[in-house]
Amino acid sequence: ATMRGSKNIQAKLVLLGDMGTGKTSLVLRFVKGQFYDFQESTIGAAFFTQILSINEATVKFDIWDTAGQERYHSLAPMYYRGAAAAIVVYDITSMDSFERARKWVEELQRQGNPNLVMVLVANKVDLEANRRVETENGELYAHENGLLYIETSAKTAQNVNELFYEIAKRLAKAR
Ligand code: GDP
Ligand code: MG
Repeated sequence: ATMRGSKNIQAKLVLLGDMGTGKTSLVLRFVKGQFYDFQESTIGAAFFTQILSINEATVKFDIWDTAGQERYHSLAPMYYRGAAAAIVVYDITSMDSFERARKWVEELQRQGNPNLVMVLVANKVDLEANRRVETENGELYAHENGLLYIETSAKTAQNVNELFYEIAKRLAKAR
């Protein structure tokens, strides 16, 4: 196989969303392939790197996870400054978390980076029986705001690799 024409991309990726929606769990599922049931929300703070190879490119993600500052519904602008991609997470069992996710999206949009790859993630789909936010609500909002929409479970791993793969594809296309 030839590497001709393939790109090397380094991209800052940030996660936003309410506390408890599963941001850290999604990152740990992607980076370590594991799920930690009794993880404390405030653990972490964290910075991870992960390399993902797709057809068009090799993408090195610099992943910024919060240390729980989202508790106060605000993050320092330096957290998302320079980000190439943002994952905004809500928990399908919490309407509050969906409303908060929309606030995070608005905050990102105020940063005014038209190239930012944004994904709205509806997490915890393994808890379908307790769903409070319908798929079409998330989809419609994402569509209206130019975001990708993906439903995931960090617990079962459903769609987690796909989430990062889709981001990598879009980053590769943009460069
Ligand atoms: P964060 O505060 O957004 O980083 O959320 P965490 O990753 O710390 O997760 C908060 C809680 O939700 C933890 O108890 C996780 O084990 C749990 N959790 C995270 N993702 C999922 C999921 O997809 N399904 C279920 N059932 N629980 C999840
Ligand atoms: Mg966390």
